[in-house]
Amino acid sequence: MRLISQTFAKLQDNPVQDLSYHSGMNWKITVMIKRLFDQSLTDLKDMEGDYRVFHLNYDIAQGVLFLLIAAVSISGLMGVDLILFKGRTDLIRWMVIYRSGFILLTLIIMFVMMNTQKVRVFDRLVSIWVFSTIVFLVLFNFTRPSNYLTTPFDIIVPFAIYVVSPLTVRRNFSLAFIFSVSTLYVDHFHKLDIDPVTLGTATAAQLIVHALGLITAVQIQSYRRRSFKALIEEKDAREMVAYLANIDPLTKSLTRRHFFSFAESEFMRFKRYERPMSVMVIDVDHFKNINDTYGHHAGDLALRSLSLVAMDHKRSQDTFGRLGGEEFGLLLPETSLHQARVVAERIQTMWEQSPVNLDGELIHSTVSIGVAEVSPKDTSFDDLLRRADKMLYKAKEAGRNRVVAE
Ligand code: GH3
Ligand code: MG
Ligand code: MG
Repeated sequence: MRLISQTFAKLQDNPVQDLSYHSGMNWKITVMIKRLFDQSLTDLKDMEGDYRVFHLNYDIAQGVLFLLIAAVSISGLMGVDLILFKGRTDLIRWMVIYRSGFILLTLIIMFVMMNTQKVRVFDRLVSIWVFSTIVFLVLFNFTRPSNYLTTPFDIIVPFAIYVVSPLTVRRNFSLAFIFSVSTLYVDHFHKLDIDPVTLGTATAAQLIVHALGLITAVQIQSYRRRSFKALIEEKDAREMVAYLANIDPLTKSLTRRHFFSFAESEFMRFKRYERPMSVMVIDVDHFKNINDTYGHHAGDLALRSLSLVAMDHKRSQDTFGRLGGEEFGLLLPETSLHQARVVAERIQTMWEQSPVNLDGELIHSTVSIGVAEVSPKDTSFDDLLRRADKMLYKAKEAGRNRVVAE
């Protein structure tokens, strides 16, 4: 319910909608960028945790697949090393050690990732792996001969971080940024015989990949967050409809239909386990007089107050419903006839002492209550309720404002 009210409040002053409304024909690039980021900032508030848990299994599957691709392709690159650096045994040896270490780390992280069910552990694993990859690649760049520029590979890494890593856009940006700065540092200051045009191209490629990566990451995360939010809102709305369908709008007690269906299943359960269960029927005395004397509105007010008094005096496991008109039912599981009678008497005296305040005028009224307990002869909840109804009739006959138990 809280979620629904929050959502309605948010929908009413959604900055994204405002922006699109005001921008009209004058689409400015700043508006577009702000709009893009506003979308990504879909604030899930206390749903944030649920959102990550909701995606966790999918994220793990994707993460494991990604690490597997990384491990396999790096194994393949060892073959490329052998061809590229033929004859340079010392270099090849170092590369094999580097790459094997990294593959081992990847496989360990992959294994732990497959066996985790916690968002925090998963996020740490992703961070550790991405960070180790960055360190590994930067160190690796040092070992390369200076005329060997790895620009094509270097632009894949930041883009993959933006697109594949489920961490926040900001954290992914930090990781990708560290990678770009480090590789560009190595390219610029440790590969001195590379011509300026190639270096310029490498730098420009890094800048472009960050722009593209950021836009893509924002879009992906925005889509994920929005679709999750829509799902929750739909679930909330469905629960709300179901809840409203079961609640009597005037007295906020259960509707007759729901009270009966619940009572029927409780009856079966208690009968099967031979546990005590009682029911009471509460009816306002001379209710017609209240309507006739003070008006229908006063009658409604009295029904609402009676419902409040009864719900106040029932235990949490008891079920209170409106059987129709000015007649209510209270189902008391695990309650003997004697105990139910005590509860009924409490409601009866409480109601007698709680006049309804109609614009300063106090309206006094009373109730009669019939009580019955499940007996082995009952075959359905109807049988039990009929007996309670009979007791109510007796209470009315005996002069009203009283409790009659079987
Ligand atoms: P008794 O002591 O024998 O129970 O008499 P009573 O007047 O309470 O019983 P009766 O069944 O004759 O009248 C019930 C009245 O309750 C008739 C009906 O107009 C009124 N009523 C039923 N539902 C509502 C409601 O939702 N609001 C109001 N204000 N009146 C209602
Ligand atoms: Mg009545
Ligand atoms: Mg009645």
